[in-house]
Amino acid sequence: MKKYAIVIHGGAVTMDPSELSPETEAAQREGLQQALQAGWEILHQGGSALDAVEAAVRVLEDDEHFNAGRGSSLNLQGEVQMDASIMDGSNLKAGAVDTVRYVKNPISLARTIMEKCPHVYLSADGALEFALQHGLEIEAVHYFETEKTRQEWLEIVQEQEKVPQKDTVGAVALDQDGNLAAATSTGGIEGQLKGRVGDSPVLGGGTYAANESCAVSCTGDGEVIMRGALAHEIYALVKYKGLSAPEACREALELRAEDLKGDKGFIAIDKDGNVALETNCNVMRRGYRIGEEEPFVAIWTDEAAD
Ligand code: ASP
Repeated sequence: MKKYAIVIHGGAVTMDPSELSPETEAAQREGLQQALQAGWEILHQGGSALDAVEAAVRVLEDDEHFNAGRGSSLNLQGEVQMDASIMDGSNLKAGAVDTVRYVKNPISLARTIMEKCPHVYLSADGALEFALQHGLEIEAVHYFETEKTRQEWLEIVQEQEKVPQKDTVGAVALDQDGNLAAATSTGGIEGQLKGRVGDSPVLGGGTYAANESCAVSCTGDGEVIMRGALAHEIYALVKYKGLSAPEACREALELRAEDLKGDKGFIAIDKDGNVALETNCNVMRRGYRIGEEEPFVAIWTDEAAD
C-alpha cells in the first residue's frame, strides 16, 4: 500500500490558557478526532485527497466549536459571512467563495464551483445564487449563530475591550495515487467589517496544492498571510529550494518577519508524505494521521509529538 496521510487544523491563535474552558477544549479535541477520521477513512480505502480534505473540513464546518460553517464568527453587523477554498494538486483546479451566507458547507460550494463553474471564485450573493442553482444544502441564519458567537459579538459592539477572536479550519492530504489537495474554510474575524475577506479563500494566500510540491492550508492573521502569499511561499520553498514541508513551513514563518508580524499557523504535506504543523501561536488546534499509524490530535503548541 502506498503512503497516504491527512493533516487538519482548527485555527491557530495566541491566547491566555484561562480563556479556553475545559468543556470547549474537550469538544474541540473530539471534533478534530472526528474530522481526522472522516478524511482518513477515505484515504485508507483508496479514495482521493480531494474527497478527504472536503470530508474533513465538512465535519469541522458542522461543529459549532470551530469558526467555520455553524459557529462562524459574526461580522460588525452581527451577520455570518463565510470564506472557503479548495485546490486539487493533480491538475491545479480550484474553487473559492467569499462572504457567502446560508450555505451549510462553504467548502462543498467551493468544490462545486471548481467542478461546475467556468470561473474559479464567486462572491457573496453570486455565490449564494450558484449554490441554490446547484442544490447545495441551505440553512437559516439561526443555524449558523450560537450563543457564544452572539455573546462575543455583543461584547465587541459594546466596546468591552474584547480582543476579537478568529480561527479557521483546514485540511491537506496525500492519497495513495500520489495526489495532493488542500481545503480551508472560515467565518473570518469577529467584528470584521462587512465584506472583509481574509486569506482563506485566496489561492496562494491561505490555500495551495500542487502534486510536484506540497499542499498547504493556513490560519492566523489573514491580512499578514495574504500579503506574504504564504501558502504559495511554502509551495515554492518545497519546489525550488528542495525543502521538506516542515522545513518550508518553518522558513515561511520567518519570511520578512518585520513586515509580516502576526499570528500564523500552517499545515502542509509534501509529495513524499512529510507532514507539517507549524505555528508561532501558543494554540493550534490540529491533528494528523499517516497511513495506519495512530492519529495525533493536539491543541496547545507545546503538546508533544509533532
Ligand atoms: N485567517 C483567517 C482570516 O483572516 C482567520 C484565522 O485563521 O484565524 O479570516
